[in-house]
Amino acid sequence: MMQPLPVRGLHLAASDHSVEMTARDAAACERLIREALPKEGINTLVLELDYTFRFRSHPELADEAAMDRAATRRIAKACRSAGVKLIPGFNCYGHQSWGKTTLALLRKHPQFDETPKLPADNAGIYCRSWCPLAPGLHEIVFDLLDELADACESDAVHCGMDEIFLIADPDCPRCHGKDPADLFAAEVALLHDHLKAQGRTMWMWGDRFLDGKTTGMGKWAASENGTHPAVDRAPKDIVICDWHYEKAWPTPDFFAKKGFRVIACPSVKSDVALAQLKLIREARGFGMLQTTWVDYPHFITAYFGEAPTRPSLPAPEPMTDAAAKVACSFRALCAAMRAEITP
Ligand SMILES: [Zn+2]
Repeated sequence: MMQPLPVRGLHLAASDHSVEMTARDAAACERLIREALPKEGINTLVLELDYTFRFRSHPELADEAAMDRAATRRIAKACRSAGVKLIPGFNCYGHQSWGKTTLALLRKHPQFDETPKLPADNAGIYCRSWCPLAPGLHEIVFDLLDELADACESDAVHCGMDEIFLIADPDCPRCHGKDPADLFAAEVALLHDHLKAQGRTMWMWGDRFLDGKTTGMGKWAASENGTHPAVDRAPKDIVICDWHYEKAWPTPDFFAKKGFRVIACPSVKSDVALAQLKLIREARGFGMLQTTWVDYPHFITAYFGEAPTRPSLPAPEPMTDAAAKVACSFRALCAAMRAEITP
């Protein structure tokens, strides 16, 4: 029999559809927290809010159907009574657009854009990045991170930092010609130091710290754009969320040997999740975090095995399919974590 892993987590991404749906979604989230998470043995919920939160410090950066403070507080309360630690997520540096939509920060403050000359519809790119050297950027970002952490009553913030492809862009007058590892390391340190000064721990995805070329992990789950040497300059009290969805790479050991607390993050494949749990145990890692990457109402519906109640959502078929797979992986992972600690 083993000791339970310190972190047994679930990652949900908030949706942004309409005011009415946001309220309903928050209620569904509360139900999941109360009825499912304690039963499954989950003790951590990372709720990625990004701009779907009604910021008071910068109201112009809240999406139209953003979650208000009262809904967030109800979710925080549900977490507290279920023994679940709530951690807000906010994508920093990369992921400042999705598809054709540029997200609020760069829409309202185009002077922070790493690539302002790229087409407005984001044709030909994955996601926009902010420019880490843009004057005035971090004053705003720090306000957002603080406000999310306060609303969630959390001593940690998940800062994203994954899949950054636009970095040290030749067209950025400030970053042009700089070493991507230097830029990335400096941004990690800046965010970390701010959170630490507030008594908070920084969590982030690990992919930009992994060498995608020599390992064969590729440019998504690892870095092929020169950021990976930054791993040796990152503060060791950052919690690394090491995501791999197709295959269980032995990267928990890599991060653990560097001195980080590492959490392995699966997605749709149960066998990968179970293999990652084994790797985390071997590496004496910090835990597991099931990611979902479907709108969270879809995941909740799939988890409870109910018919979709939101037919107006876009593309329900593929979403439902992905949600069902993720729900299966989640159940399998939770069962395996419970079995480890059952005498
Ligand atoms: Zn720049």
